[in-house]
Amino acid sequence: MTARVLDGKALAAQVKLEVAARVATLRARGVTPGLAVVLVGDDPASAVYVRSKTKDARECGIDAGDHRLPADVSQAVLQALVTRLAADPAVHGILVQLPLPKHLDPDQVIDAIPPHKDVDGLHPDNLGRLAQGRARFVACTPQGCMRLLGLAGVELAGASAVVIGRSVLVGRPAALLLTNASATVTLCHSRTHDLSEIVAAAEIVIAAVGRAELIRGAWIRPGATVIDVGINRTADGKLIGDVEYAAAAERAAAITPVPGGVGPMTRACLLENTVTAAEGEP
Ligand code: NAD
Repeated sequence: MTARVLDGKALAAQVKLEVAARVATLRARGVTPGLAVVLVGDDPASAVYVRSKTKDARECGIDAGDHRLPADVSQAVLQALVTRLAADPAVHGILVQLPLPKHLDPDQVIDAIPPHKDVDGLHPDNLGRLAQGRARFVACTPQGCMRLLGLAGVELAGASAVVIGRSVLVGRPAALLLTNASATVTLCHSRTHDLSEIVAAAEIVIAAVGRAELIRGAWIRPGATVIDVGINRTADGKLIGDVEYAAAAERAAAITPVPGGVGPMTRACLLENTVTAAEGEP
């Protein structure tokens, strides 16, 4: 079997068109959706992410601004910026690019974002609502994973699903979304015993670890659907995922490529969350 490749780029282009249409409707009513992206420091990867997020947003008619602060900024100055954006009626969505430099506490910053402007879905109110099964804003990467599962056409109810990685940004909300969709979910992490056996039993695999090809192709259950969130740079500068792609594609029914799978869908879901925020509290 050779897996169907789940084209995140093509799906993201479709989502962007839908977002652009919703933005046009809002603009006709005199509302321009506004997205504020906060970047602290000069981490090159974060700078690239912020640039692409604001570029995508502008292409859809969203008024996107980036707010850059130096790496040595104090917590108080960062909090003051977020508080100002929170009060600004032209800003519908606020995203603070993570990770922050070590001396800053991300929890305090995220707590300062009003939940109805938290388009990254990280505020405790939004994560709590997701846990209760009444989600408002959901983190963009796990939401993108769910959209790709939708593209694969896989039946989630009753399916055995494994999520590898339990970060608050990706793994945990992905496990909650799958649970809410009635999958039977196992959440694995760095302390998990017998990872290969758990993966081998799963009909759905979401890998969000950040270790190149940790998930071996031979572990994949024949016919499984594989969503690879991982982004790892090889010594020769190539990007590869957390799944051993070629071998996994021999066994899976469907698989996301890296790059071109989850990444573009993460960006598209941010646009969707931003326009939803501008339309009024969901
Ligand atoms: P993280 O470092 O916060 O979390 C990694 C998780 O992996 C942890 O829960 C840890 O317990 C688990 N883990 C570590 N070693 C393990 C092992 N040997 N076996 C099983 N689990 C193990 O990372 P994150 O922010 O969740 O990101 C994960 C990956 O996804 C990274 O490569 C990141 O670059 C990528 N990412 C991609 C997108 C995208 O849009 N495509 C978005 C966010 C993150």
